[in-house]
Amino acid sequence: MSQFWSPIVHDLVPYIPGEQPKSENLVKLNTNENPYGPSPKVLEAIRLNVSNQLRLYPDPNATDLKLAIAEYYDVETAQVFVGNGSDEVLAHIFHALFQHNKKLLFPDITYSFYPVYCQLYQIDYQAVPLNEKLEINLDDYQQENSGIIFPNPNAPTGCLLALDAIEQLLQKNTQSVVVVDEAYIDFGGESAISLVSKYPNLLVTQTLSKSRSLASLRIGLAIGHPDLIEALVRVKDSFNSYPLDNLSIQAGVAAFEDNDYFVTTCQKVIRSREAMIESLVELGFEVLPSAANFIFATHPDRDAAELSMELRKEKIIVRHFKHQRIEQYLRITIGTEEENQQLLSILDTLV
Ligand SMILES: *Cc1c(COP(=O)(O)O)cnc(C)c1O
Repeated sequence: MSQFWSPIVHDLVPYIPGEQPKSENLVKLNTNENPYGPSPKVLEAIRLNVSNQLRLYPDPNATDLKLAIAEYYDVETAQVFVGNGSDEVLAHIFHALFQHNKKLLFPDITYSFYPVYCQLYQIDYQAVPLNEKLEINLDDYQQENSGIIFPNPNAPTGCLLALDAIEQLLQKNTQSVVVVDEAYIDFGGESAISLVSKYPNLLVTQTLSKSRSLASLRIGLAIGHPDLIEALVRVKDSFNSYPLDNLSIQAGVAAFEDNDYFVTTCQKVIRSREAMIESLVELGFEVLPSAANFIFATHPDRDAAELSMELRKEKIIVRHFKHQRIEQYLRITIGTEEENQQLLSILDTLV
């Protein structure tokens, strides 16, 4: 009964996640999950920790996981924050670092959770338009702001910014926090984590959901100056002391330890992506250059919404966004070789 709601709830427009269908005989290319399962060592770590010890609360600081991440990226544990998916990490960032009396800047076409967090935490923002090639132009961000956030590579376009462009922005923007959301960086980009020790206002977020194939476990992280991390810890400890359960903590450690598996599976996805782009271009699609595990494509002769419905009838799901600037595009996750071939042979009959 809405009379009981807090006033802010009436106007909330929540994020709508991509569909997680019940049926298993669908080719699921709609939410950028990894087509290859997690490392066998991750599964083993989970099995080993299924025991009577589950009666205990987990380590509220997830120390084992922070140590593994700090070692992997060659930073201090005081520079590491972890949370229940990078979505939760991002929510804490918006709450802890962006509530100032100026506008937060992010691209007009980007991760659609950002405006949702702005509404939830009542943060004023300005959407900065992508250029005509649907790329982020960081020069457009040199204006007064309460913070800057963008994914690199951007979602849902897949377009990558070079690290030196990000560093140039950091040299000019020193008075507010710059967040680089690196959900897809492992599929071909260069991480800005190498810059955090030089720029105290830089915060980099990553997730184990995509490149490490652990979307189900919900593990996200942020790396930055200890003062920024301290702000996130304060918010986290005012919200939920135990965002990560012990199975996730141990699985996350194993994921960072099994680097061979990680590198091999990322390379497989990258190779499939390049092959997929080539095949789609042969079918007449225009495809944006992608450094992610998905591609963003449009066909000059076919309406994207219609095409996505026709694919659905053929048991293939891809993502279509109703946003006006990109309504003629489909975002297609890179699947296994077999799934990619299924998609291409169906598209061959549809375009
Ligand atoms: C998938 C994604 C996230 C969220 O990842 P989780 O760790 O699964 O919450 C954050 N940012 C972008 C740009 C994403 O695509």
